[in-house]
Amino acid sequence: MPAPHLAVIGGGQLARMMAPPAVALGIRLRLLAEAGDVSAAQVIGDHLVGDHTNLADLRDAVGDAPVVTFDHEHVPPEHLQALAAEGHACRPSPDALLFAQDKGDMRVRLSLLGIPSPVFELLSEDLADAIDDMHDFGYPAVVKTTRGGYDGKGVWVVRSADDLAEPFSVGQELMAEELVDFRRELSALVARSPSGEVRAYPVVESRQVDGVCSEVIAPAPDLDPALAAEARQIAERIATELEVTGILAVEMFETTDGRILVNELAMRPHNTGHWSIEGAETSQFENHLRAVLDLPLGPTTARQPWSVMVNVLGGAVEDLLVQRAIALAAEPGVHVHLYGKAVKPGRKVGHVTATGIDLDDTRARARRSAALLTDG
Ligand code: ADP
Repeated sequence: MPAPHLAVIGGGQLARMMAPPAVALGIRLRLLAEAGDVSAAQVIGDHLVGDHTNLADLRDAVGDAPVVTFDHEHVPPEHLQALAAEGHACRPSPDALLFAQDKGDMRVRLSLLGIPSPVFELLSEDLADAIDDMHDFGYPAVVKTTRGGYDGKGVWVVRSADDLAEPFSVGQELMAEELVDFRRELSALVARSPSGEVRAYPVVESRQVDGVCSEVIAPAPDLDPALAAEARQIAERIATELEVTGILAVEMFETTDGRILVNELAMRPHNTGHWSIEGAETSQFENHLRAVLDLPLGPTTARQPWSVMVNVLGGAVEDLLVQRAIALAAEPGVHVHLYGKAVKPGRKVGHVTATGIDLDDTRARARRSAALLTDG
């Protein structure tokens, strides 16, 4: 195999979707995959199977690739520091990635920057002390693990001291946040390169069902232009201040009283940016590759007035490939993406995107296609 230009750690669908723009731009990818048949290993020929928490496996996979990037946030920071010390550019850098790995560190840093965020407090390790902390903080509140949460796992609404038992049973560091009264959730994506070029995508609305993203509308409908500009500026400022390289996704709340509060950060292509594959001039995956390799970034403007992305979650459909033909026949203009993953209930196994000039029609087409792939 010729030397890779870019090593990607983690073989999920985000790494898989980096492959098409890598092919187009002549970028040779090398993948560290959890197993030989995971989503990205099916499409990136140059892959090694190994464990991203094991430094030897990381070193084997990275080899002589000058740049390393990630499908997820779970590589231990000390391993990233070791790779960086050995001359590989980690993008994002370990220092930046920390703020996507640890919600407590992220909240502290953003509050120092004056970025609007929910009121928060780190909780004591001892349950009795934490009950005292919460007594002062006030109920109701949201309690979260500072690390390792995803898709709503590791997030609890607590209404009394009794409700602390469950979060404490997890045995991880916890924080409390005000229970935000929000109208909807927004997401602002930016791409930033090491030379400091920054491009922001249109701000989108994301809808969650049971803590999992189900639908994304680009741009966020009826968003006050001043709030949209604020959301965008917040994302650009975070990317610049934290020196993020690659895609930064900033998940936000639009509160019922018309404010923007930052919820959390991801430093990789993000589910709320999948619409950009067909809906934007340059997809988030292409701009992630361009950014981490310090190539000029592409325009982030929308190609159509509306794009609607709906996730395909594991449901009643057992054979996605049979159902794919039915979905394509029903909605030939909707773009179907399947991740090559086994169907399990609620698991993200694909997504669809429709674009168009009328929001209701665009959303109806996307939902119909996704429903055929999920429910049959
Ligand atoms: P995850 O890491 O699982 O994505 P989040 O911190 O994004 O965790 O929380 C998951 C969901 O819980 C959010 O999408 C939102 O709907 C809800 N949530 C999180 N924090 C708060 C909060 N402070 N107030 C109200 N709802 C919240």
